Amino acid sequence: MLKSIAVMTSGGDSPGMNAAVRAVTRTALHQGVKVWGIRGGYHGMLDEDIFEMESKDVGDIIQRGGTFLGTARCKRFQTPEGRMLGYKNLVDRGIQGLVVVGGDGSLRGASTLSQETGLPIVGLPGTIDNDVWGSEYTIGCDTAANTILDAMNKLRDTASAHRRIIVLEVMGRNSGWLAMVAGISGGAEYILVPEEPFDLDEICESMKAEYEKGKRYILMVVAEGAGKASEIGPIVAEKTGRDTRVSKLGHIQRGGSPSVIDRVKASQLGEHAALAIISGLSDIVFGFNRGHVVSINLHDAVNNKKTLDPQFMRLAKVLA
Ligand code: ADP
Repeated sequence: MLKSIAVMTSGGDSPGMNAAVRAVTRTALHQGVKVWGIRGGYHGMLDEDIFEMESKDVGDIIQRGGTFLGTARCKRFQTPEGRMLGYKNLVDRGIQGLVVVGGDGSLRGASTLSQETGLPIVGLPGTIDNDVWGSEYTIGCDTAANTILDAMNKLRDTASAHRRIIVLEVMGRNSGWLAMVAGISGGAEYILVPEEPFDLDEICESMKAEYEKGKRYILMVVAEGAGKASEIGPIVAEKTGRDTRVSKLGHIQRGGSPSVIDRVKASQLGEHAALAIISGLSDIVFGFNRGHVVSINLHDAVNNKKTLDPQFMRLAKVLA
């Protein structure tokens, strides 16, 4: 049994990270284990921004987006010397295990730290992109998808009024999950994702035909990894001859009060992470599979690429 653990958030922030940290902290305290919070991701580990937490430190945060611990991207942690310094700072405080909540990069860093030092580490997938291998869910993806859906509902009103084409760019550099689920739920006619090649000429021809058949407006969702709305929009306008507008949601997608799903799932994952690390388990990530919490090998999670469910791509085309 470990007696003292630390928890941190790292990389891109996502709504629900607070719920995860709260669950890790309160579960550990409930087990009589000391919990330390690390502020500002791996930066805080290296700069000794590490503090012991009580239950009240994680009060009044479950409803907040972002992460109260702060997060960062840290170049120094990518060097063996940086990681060794971080490890020393933890050991100096008697910290015996670490829970890292973050995306692909943060989990990769955690995996390397554990391999090099033997420090027990458990990861939780925290990213709006839902692109961590082995889990059907990552903390924050539901809130982000709902934020995009809300924007789509509003864009529909104005697109319809003017009979416009709207090209909406959403986050997802390597993963089209957000674009796909938001697009399907928002009734988008076209969804462009990095996982699937597309022919813009063909799409524009099809748009023209749709307008001729009486379509009032068209919504296209583009994952940033598939292209820039600012470049695709003018091409669509020129090739279709239709009034076209582009919209880029940007960082709005990362913020906001977490949804019920993100709060509950993050809490479940946080509890599992705390119990696992306390019991001495290491090098695992907790995620969801078919609605149940599962543990995934950390090495596998960071060395495999999650693919977009082909059922989504098929469904999006059938319903468009
Ligand atoms: P995310 O966790 O959201 O994918 P990043 O990819 O920016 O975000 O990673 C966050 C931080 O994790 C980086 O700034 C760095 O400190 C650490 N990190 C990322 N990749 C590695 C790696 N291969 N080795 C060590 N540390 C890494």
